[in-house]
Amino acid sequence: NSATLSCIGLAGLAVMGQNLALNVAEKGFPISVYNRTTSKVDDTLVRAKDEGNLPLTGYYNPKDFILSIQRPRSVVLLVKAGAPVDQTIATLSEYLEPGDAIIDGGNEWYENTERRIRDAENQGILYLGMGVSGGEEGARNGPSLMPGGSHEAYKNVEHILMKIAAQVNDGPCVTYIGAGGAGNFVKMVHNGIEYGDMQLISEAYDVLKTVGGLSNEELAGIFHEWNRGELESFLIEITSDIFKVKDESGSGDLVDMILDKTGMKGTGKWTVQQAAELSIAAPTIAASLDSRYLSGLKAERENASRVLQEAGIDGDNLGSIRTVDKKQLVDDVRQALYASKICSYAQGMNLLRAKSMEKSWNLNLGEMARIWKGGCIIRARFLDRIKQAYDRNVNLANLIVDPEFAKEMVQRQGAWRRVVGLAIESGISTPGMCSSLAYFDTYRRARLPANLVQAQRDLFGAHTYERVDIPGSFHTEWTKLA
Ligand code: NAP
Repeated sequence: NSATLSCIGLAGLAVMGQNLALNVAEKGFPISVYNRTTSKVDDTLVRAKDEGNLPLTGYYNPKDFILSIQRPRSVVLLVKAGAPVDQTIATLSEYLEPGDAIIDGGNEWYENTERRIRDAENQGILYLGMGVSGGEEGARNGPSLMPGGSHEAYKNVEHILMKIAAQVNDGPCVTYIGAGGAGNFVKMVHNGIEYGDMQLISEAYDVLKTVGGLSNEELAGIFHEWNRGELESFLIEITSDIFKVKDESGSGDLVDMILDKTGMKGTGKWTVQQAAELSIAAPTIAASLDSRYLSGLKAERENASRVLQEAGIDGDNLGSIRTVDKKQLVDDVRQALYASKICSYAQGMNLLRAKSMEKSWNLNLGEMARIWKGGCIIRARFLDRIKQAYDRNVNLANLIVDPEFAKEMVQRQGAWRRVVGLAIESGISTPGMCSSLAYFDTYRRARLPANLVQAQRDLFGAHTYERVDIPGSFHTEWTKLA
């Protein structure tokens, strides 16, 4: 009896799955849910009842779960990426029929999705790899969704995705991304950009705190203020909130009690690996990844701090010896952060374009910026500007040369150079801001010292070089002429 069947199913009821299922049900789409460990089915049923008797039905075995969904079936998976996805597909596909679709919402490596698309096709099953961003809150109230793979599978659930996604001024934060693993790839780059944003914000914090001597209370106010201007974004907003939280088990602020060691799950590393594979410079994102690695060496850093102090370095905190104009510093850091961020997004967007060309995904970069405007972790006011830049020119080689962004970069470069210079003099590392500035300064120069590198390569390896005045490739017996 199709009247009692659900519109869609969802398997995997941990943080993301449970919240996404409740979101679907709340939008009026009856949903069937299943989880390997059945206690999570019960937890979800309790929440569905508490949150307004939402149309959600729980199942304790895969067969009943699949048979409860209306055909052609759409089954969302939100289980741990990698082997658990393969295991879950194996369990569920026993009961799936041709024309049904699997939608993996995890942070999956895009090639795993491409392999599963081929396997599914052999059984007549459609497959989507769908990036989901926004964490727990986003999943419950409106994430940014990046579905890629079977277009038919997308069309079957488009009406649901449009309703559950975050809603912004120019529509829901979802679009069909492209074929194959495009959705997962775009989500991966989103996460790489997120690494960059977080690193840049932490550097702004370090400079303001260590060089400027600002208190957490002042920082909360500054980030709050910044969130009302061009930097307005989720990450700036939560940063302001973080500075306000007291340590419940002590007397100070919680942020000061947190160990300075960053965790990670791999999407940032994948982004940097892919950039290298495709010969795309992504120095800000790479610097953010490196910073996470170095943060992990806590004991080594403590040792180095001691050894270098014994060797006579001028204190661990060179910044405190300078006097700075706080108001000017705050304003400079805001501008340095904004300009650095543009370079980081330029790198992410160029990586997307390079992959899109390699895989013929036909990615629309303006649309990527649009669906990141709401729901996801990097949601920000300035994504609208990025969208407009690509609307103005779909073939824009780099965000830096969009006329609007070019103007903004030039306006901010004085402040940007002051912050980076001050940080360097003070011994405060700002790898993200430095990488962004170096990217900008490298990209904007018509002539680089690469001529010398070419000469060296030709000298020791006869690799040949091109000339600026005559076409062709040349080799010189350098040592004979020197
Ligand atoms: P998770 O911790 O990644 O995974 C837990 C879920 O996977 C549980 O439902 C678990 O079932 C299931 N699972 C693990 N191994 C399994 C196996 N061998 N067979 C069947 N089921 C298995 O959950 P999550 O944090 O909700 O994330 C889900 C996906 O979304 C991941 O790919 C994650 O990277 C991605 N994601 C997470 C966030 C976030 O903020 N957490 C944000 C965006 C995307 P049992 O209960 O039976 O163990």
